[in-house]
Parts: sequence; C-alpha cells; structure tokens
Amino acid sequence: MPCIYYEKPLQASGILHLNGENAHYLANVLRFKQGSRFDVVDNTGLRYVASVISIDSTKVTAQYQQLNVQERESFIELILCQALLKGSKMDMVVQKATELGIWGILPLITERSVPQYTRKVERWKKIAIEALRQSGRSRVPYIEEAQELPSFLSEMKTGGAHGIIFYEKYGSSINDIFLTGKDIKRLFIVVGPEGGFCEKEVELARQAGFHVVSLGGRILRAETAAISVTAILQYLYGDINF
Ligand code: SAM
Repeated sequence: MPCIYYEKPLQASGILHLNGENAHYLANVLRFKQGSRFDVVDNTGLRYVASVISIDSTKVTAQYQQLNVQERESFIELILCQALLKGSKMDMVVQKATELGIWGILPLITERSVPQYTRKVERWKKIAIEALRQSGRSRVPYIEEAQELPSFLSEMKTGGAHGIIFYEKYGSSINDIFLTGKDIKRLFIVVGPEGGFCEKEVELARQAGFHVVSLGGRILRAETAAISVTAILQYLYGDINF
C-alpha cells in the first residue's frame, strides 16, 4: 500500500488536505483517482488508511482513519552512531538502517572521518522518510546534527548508556556481549569512517563503558559494517528473529 508521511499529528479520523510533494506523489506519480486508498504516517509514528475524495496535481482531499497495524517497529531502540563517510555512502547507510528498523542515527566527527562537518542532515531525513514509506514502518528514525566523538562519549558516560564500538583490530564477539545483557532496551552502536578509529578513540569509548567488538578477521567497508551490525543486533535484540 503506498504510504505518505504527514509532518503533523493527526486525529483518530477525519479529512486530510494535502498539497506540495504529497499531492504531486499521489496525483502525478501514482495517478490516483477518487476512491484510491493509501497509508499515512504522521509525525507521532501512527499509521492511518486514507481514501481520496478529490484530487488534482496540486491538492488532494482524503478521508482517513487510524489503523491498528501490526507493530512495525522493533522493541529495541538501536541508535547507529556513524562516523561521517565520503560521498553518498551515508545516504545508503541511512536508507538501509531505516529499513532495518533503526531508532535513531547520530552522525559522528572522528579523527579520521574525511568530512569534518556536514550540511546533509535535512537530505538524510528525506531519505529516511522515503525508506519509511517503502518499508511500511510507522516511525521515522531521528537524525541528529553531527557531533564530535569525544563529546558524544562523555555524554554517554554520564548517562550510563549501553553501547558497542566496532573495531577491526581486536574486541569481543557480539555473542559474548549478547549473553551478558539480553534485556537492554536501548543500544548505541558506533561504526568508524573509511580510515577507521585510532586507538585513543577506542580507549575513550571503553572508558565510557562501551564494549569493544570485533566482527572477525575480514575488514568490512564502513557502510557494510553499519548495515550488517544493524541487522545482526535486530536479530539478537530486536524483532527480526520474532
Ligand atoms: N582500519 C580499517 C582498515 O585498515 O582498512 C578501516 C576501517 S573499516 C573500513 C571502517 C569501520 O568499519 C571500522 O572503523 C569499524 O567500525 C568497522 N569495521 C570494519 N571491519 C570490522 C571488523 N572486522 N570488526 C569490527 N569492526 C569493523
């Protein structure tokens, strides 16, 4: 079922007036007519079904009511803390992590991350909304502005957060970590840039209470590692192994 994202909270039912991108998508891309049905997810993450009352390429009026869909959100809050990557790699990480049910994405500035700042957060939010529509999710992952790794870790340390930093040179296995803490509800997962973490950064993470985890002997590209660990941890802690 096609799905659109509505930037404001909706009532349990009512009449919806759409314009801009949403009207264009329904009228010109999907060529909807009167009576056509589609899903709507509002910014509180609730999902609704809607039926077109009137439509033209600039505005759509539809009747909607709340859906009690099978929960499509994982029961663990996984937050991917990804060092900034070059080019469009972050776009792919945002898209795939959203499909895999990530709860939030924190872009990080690290010693070796080649972009040392970013103006792409609004772009990534749009990619996440598109991935929500495609995957049938009912909640858009939050995406924050990029922050320096040390200040992020000091926040985590004071907050007593559960976290894993993925490091290819050494570390525990994911399974060892899983066995020591199965019932956590929020987990921060930290993946480095193309050039990897320096020892000092890994040590900072360890001092902040993060587990250092290796994924074995092969060196994965950062985007491969980010997507893989999101899937693995959704399997272990979340709803992929329901
Ligand atoms: N230092 C690496 C090298 O020598 O090619 C580059 C880092 S790797 C391309 C990018 C990131 O993916 C790393 O910082 C780490 O977070 C994660 N990663 C890749 N392979 C990994 C592995 N085998 N175990 C744990 N993390 C890994």
